[in-house]
Formats: sequence, structure tokens, C-alpha cells
Amino acid sequence: MMGFAPAMILIFPRLFFRSTLHAGSAASVNVLLRIPPIWFLLCWSGHCNLSSVGPACRRPTSQQCCAGVRYTSSNHISKMTTKAQKITTKEQADTFLAKFDVFLFDCDGVLWSGNTLLPKVAETIAMLKKLGKQVVFVTNNSTKSRAAYKKKLDSMGIPAEVNDIFGSAYSAAVYINRVLNFPKDKKVYVLGESGIEEELESEGVRYCGGTDPEERRAISPEDYDAIGPDPEVGAVLCGLDTHVNYLKLAKAHAYLQDPNVLFLQTNDDSTYPSHGKLFPGAGSIAAPLKYSTRRQATALGKPNQSMMDAIASKFQFDRSKACMVGDRLNTDIQFGLGGGLGGTLLVLTGVSKVEEIQGDDAPIVPHYYADKLGDLYSEDAAN
Ligand SMILES: [Mg+2]
Repeated sequence: MMGFAPAMILIFPRLFFRSTLHAGSAASVNVLLRIPPIWFLLCWSGHCNLSSVGPACRRPTSQQCCAGVRYTSSNHISKMTTKAQKITTKEQADTFLAKFDVFLFDCDGVLWSGNTLLPKVAETIAMLKKLGKQVVFVTNNSTKSRAAYKKKLDSMGIPAEVNDIFGSAYSAAVYINRVLNFPKDKKVYVLGESGIEEELESEGVRYCGGTDPEERRAISPEDYDAIGPDPEVGAVLCGLDTHVNYLKLAKAHAYLQDPNVLFLQTNDDSTYPSHGKLFPGAGSIAAPLKYSTRRQATALGKPNQSMMDAIASKFQFDRSKACMVGDRLNTDIQFGLGGGLGGTLLVLTGVSKVEEIQGDDAPIVPHYYADKLGDLYSEDAAN
């Protein structure tokens, strides 16, 4: 016989989780969110629907809601895919394009490297739009808000609307506000750039740290005495912070001593591709805190499926007709595979290399790969 408490959770998941979250038991929530069945219940009860535009996953299939959390074993994903097919010829590109109505594009390492647009990218995106394809930009880079990303896309000759852009900073802000129902009397301590601040502001979430110039300095003897718990801080959120320093890490470390303070990341990318090279990514900013506190963080960007659910909910597309295009296997491609998309395309202009998808023991294998996004471009289709 099922016990009373499990039975009540199964019957009234929404009631159970709302009461838990409203009670402000952040430590309990942090533990619960690590249990796959709890994610399933959260999604089933509507809690992982990050979008305000409709139910994303009230009745998820095994491939959809929470799939990225369930499939933590990437080997399981590889067994569900066939060997990647390389796209080199015009015929292969045309066949590939005809399969999909929606394309989700990662940005860094796919569209550009740093501030350098990759070859034929603007032409390829314009061609897709002309062919009637839906184009959505999905980036783990939290340094820019969606509005700032629109400016960058526009400046690169890729016209876009804010609503066509999903960033990990936005995903994290919506998660904190709408899924966690973050208490209004609490604030988020930010290790990150203005992109996170702007998205938290857009969701009405209070924050501290971030780009505060007072914290962009070396730690002082007085700081060692002053740093300690802050009852107003309810979460630490780590993104890519190009001004990270010991003072910020020390503050975050102090806040995370309280088990009720949530430990969140916009994304866990170990590296960041820019200027044709790799630099430390957002995951490397959070890594010292994971080491010093012995705590794990919840990362809210790709491959977390809460981000996919928000995108699918907003655009209401058929996942079998959607393709994720990215340069990184353990974020972009795993995001598309875990989300049950019909296609995933790895481009070799960023982080992951072709050697990583070859061999029977390759852990994550996309459906397709190409040397660069511009290889999809066809003058015939564009004109
Ligand atoms: Mg990338």
C-alpha cells in the first residue's frame, strides 16, 4: 500500500509544491529539485512551465519535459541516435532543410566568434526566413539580456525580435520568479554581468552584487570582518562574470553557508568560445564555490529542459519538425536530444570537435554535422 504522504504528493502535486515553496523552505526545495521523479511531478503539475503563454508540459512524454534531467547519463542518449550525417553538398543541405520548420540557434561559436561574424551566417539566416522557417536564438551566454542580444544580432546583419531570443539569464530570472515564487523580501546575490541584472529586473526580482562597482576591487582587511550571512539573500546566481574576484567569491561563499540559500547557475559551460579561442565559461566561475562549499548548483540554461519547455510553450511548435543547431555537444546537442527534437546539427566552428562524435563510444552524437553553418546556404534557395 502506498503511504499517505507519497499518495498526497501524487494526487496534489501542485498543492504540495506550492506550499513547500511558499513556506520558504529553500533548502528542501534545493534537495527536491535534484530528484528526477520530483522534476517529473513539478512538470506534470505545471511548475516547470517557465512561459506565461500557456501550459508547456502538463502531460509530458518520456522524451519531452524533464528529459534533460532524467537523461543525466549521456550514454543513454547516444544509444538513441544514429551516426551523425555530414552535410557537405547542396543536395544534402536541401534535404536537411526540408525536414524542419523550426531552427533553434546557439549563438557563440555558431553565428559568430567574439565579434566576428562567421562566413555566410547572415545570408543563411535570411535564407531560412525566406523559406518560411521559424528562427529562434537560444544562448547560454548570460552577459547580455535579450534586448542587448537583439542589438548585437542587428549589428551583425541578422535582424531579430526580442521575443525570438532566449538567453540563460532570462531563463534563470523566469525560473526564480515564476517557478520558485522567490519571496519578495529576499534578493539574489549575482556573480555575473548586466545581462543577468536586466533580466532579473524584468521579472521584478531584487538582486545585489553583479556589476556593483563597490565589489569590483580587491578584498580589504575590513571585508574579512564584515563578510557574513545576510538574511535578505535567498539565492546565489552565478553566470559568466568577467570581473570575478576574491571579494565576490568570499561573499557568495558566506551566503551559501546557509543551506536555505539556493545555489543557482545560469549555465554550466566550462569554456566560452571567443576570438577563435576558448576562455573560461560560466561553469568555471561557479566552480570555486562548488569546491569551497561542497555544494552543487542547479544550472538553468542548456541542457536543462526547463528552458526547452519555455521555448516550446511560447512557439507551440512540433518538436519533430524542430532542429537545434549548436557548437557544443554537452549543452546544445544534449539540449536538442533531451528535448526530443527531430534534429540536431553540430557545427564545427566552436567548442566541440569532430573526433568527439566519432567512434562507438562517443557519448553524445548529433543527427547531423557540418563544418560551418554557412554550408547550408544556397543561392538558389535565397533568391
Ligand atoms: Mg556556443
